[in-house]
Amino acid sequence: MKMEKLSIEERFSDIDYNVSVIKERIAEAAIKSGRNENEVRLMAVTKTVEPVFINRAIKNGIDLIGENKVQEFLGKKDFLELSDCEAHLIGHLQTNKVRQIVGQVSMIQSVDSAKLANEISKRGEAAGIVTPCLVEVNIGDEESKTGIGFDELFELVHEISALKGMKICGLMTIPPICDDMAMLDKYFSKMHRLFIDIKDKKLDNVDMSILSMGMSSDYERAILNGSNLVRVGTALFGHRIY
Ligand SMILES: *Cc1c(COP(=O)(O)O)cnc(C)c1O
Repeated sequence: MKMEKLSIEERFSDIDYNVSVIKERIAEAAIKSGRNENEVRLMAVTKTVEPVFINRAIKNGIDLIGENKVQEFLGKKDFLELSDCEAHLIGHLQTNKVRQIVGQVSMIQSVDSAKLANEISKRGEAAGIVTPCLVEVNIGDEESKTGIGFDELFELVHEISALKGMKICGLMTIPPICDDMAMLDKYFSKMHRLFIDIKDKKLDNVDMSILSMGMSSDYERAILNGSNLVRVGTALFGHRIY
């Protein structure tokens, strides 16, 4: 593939265009799924993206960004115009990094073990903070993937509901990579069922309101299957250069 070197102005205009197209497509999918367009939230995934481009997206109305790595986010944070924009952590979080991130993001979307949850809660309690969190589910049951297995999900949700320094606000998933739309629908709809099942339990200290699924290649499918938060990187900022 030919790598074109774009000027900053060209990249700005790409971002402007991409934000408007993605928002339109989200609105269409939301309406198709019987919802209002503002019931589905767009997150701009900003890993590897320089602050100048992230700020451009924020100028275009992006009010939620997602970063994967604690160190990368903390390094960029001071250069971001976050007064009208929230930041979530969406990448795998190691227990020894928890102390640095609690209080720095408005949500942690990648909680996948009791050990990690306990650490987030402990650090939150010490700082007088209740951290809103999503439980990350390994919906494809893949060996290599992060996320809790769906058979252990209910138990983990119960355990976390007792913690004082964090609060579950929903579920997040990254489905297996697959080109087969029917398979993808299966994963997404299975997630939606788990989400509804837990919501129906009406557990104390659990507010099942966010279902975070769908990325650049499949966010419309995810919305049609009930997602209300899509995490889009490549389609918004272009291919990542590591
Ligand atoms: C990178 C990433 C995304 C965005 O992926 P794209 O395919 O670039 O849209 C979404 N969610 C998580 C957890 C990610 O790590």
